[in-house]
Amino acid sequence: MSSAPAIEPARGATPGRVNLLDLDRQGLRDFFAGLGEKPFRAVQLLKWLHQRRVTDFAAMTDLSKAVRARLAECAEARLPSPIFDQESRDGTRKWVLSLDGGNAIETVFIPEAGRGTLCVSSQVGCALDCKFCSTAQQGFNRNLTTAEIIGQVWFAQQALDAEGRDRRVTNVVLMGMGEPLANYRNVLAATNLMVDQHAYGLSRRRVTLSTSGLVPNLRRLADDSDISLAVSLHAPNDALRDEIVPVNQRYPLAELLDACRLYVERTPHHRITWEYVMLDGVNDSDEHARELARLLEGIPSKINLIPFNPFPGARYRCSSRERIERFSALLQRSGYITTVRRTRGDDIDGACGQLVGQVEDRIRRHPRWGGTGENRA
Ligand code: SAH
Repeated sequence: MSSAPAIEPARGATPGRVNLLDLDRQGLRDFFAGLGEKPFRAVQLLKWLHQRRVTDFAAMTDLSKAVRARLAECAEARLPSPIFDQESRDGTRKWVLSLDGGNAIETVFIPEAGRGTLCVSSQVGCALDCKFCSTAQQGFNRNLTTAEIIGQVWFAQQALDAEGRDRRVTNVVLMGMGEPLANYRNVLAATNLMVDQHAYGLSRRRVTLSTSGLVPNLRRLADDSDISLAVSLHAPNDALRDEIVPVNQRYPLAELLDACRLYVERTPHHRITWEYVMLDGVNDSDEHARELARLLEGIPSKINLIPFNPFPGARYRCSSRERIERFSALLQRSGYITTVRRTRGDDIDGACGQLVGQVEDRIRRHPRWGGTGENRA
């Protein structure tokens, strides 16, 4: 696994200081090497920052006084800070976190029997313009730093512990705001931390990156990681996908599916989860289901049908429950494991595609990018 983020100050970081929450284990090793310190300091820091969630260097008692003093000079541990939180009728929690530069992001915790899933954002806004997603409507502002991505897990676990209800983050899905593969380096370092036994220690099967299909970076991910992959498919042919997931015009289905096959080969214990939003009269006919079954033939797959969640100004309606059931039955008959996502947290605008960073007047809006916002750095 190659995962050495360059050590550079995070956006909004104090000039001249490295935010240690921007660094995964390899990044911390490089940082300590630069200070002439031993690599095992990296593991000590991971445990303090992410397991004990201590950000004050002075309290890190297994570091020598000299190391603590050095860190106080040249480093910091900076996190996004909470603005407010909401709890849905169904127990779903949503936190709005404020970032440097006047932006805000949302992160959502979904408690279920025996597990707790955190839905994490990777960008402020999104450049991809999927027609059924409200994040797309606000345009793209900027990539989140690694500290801002992992900070959502840090903060959620901290808040859950403080509640004393014995709830834990056991799963992370990168299905909040943004396209994770357009923020490749920072997302990779953050997911490395999620699965690092000395940081959050989550199973690779329980950390899922969801992408609308930035093919070059998906191919790269097959070399760099083996976390679970979900792909936002939403249409079984190029003509329809070009329309509702416009990035398809750049990376059409044949290329996307090739990259997915590669990912499955490199990570043999995995199958791909295909996300398919159910849009009334658009992509939900029997013929669409048959076409989808043919398209995915031979790829280890699970299909997740997502009832469309409406938002102000949306031009779609959700397919009827009968239609979704029929669509699901056709796929199952073709041998696909098919599930229908239960909508959670819709009364707090916490459901898929509803995250917009509600405190809009605090958000500096930039015009939408012409491209995908892809960061190949
Ligand atoms: N950009 C990434 C991750 C963010 S969206 C991606 O495209 O996968 C997470 C999932 O929610 C995606 O499958 C997305 O297509 C879906 N989604 C977006 N808007 C939605 C809406 N209004 N209703 C239901 N699902 C939606």
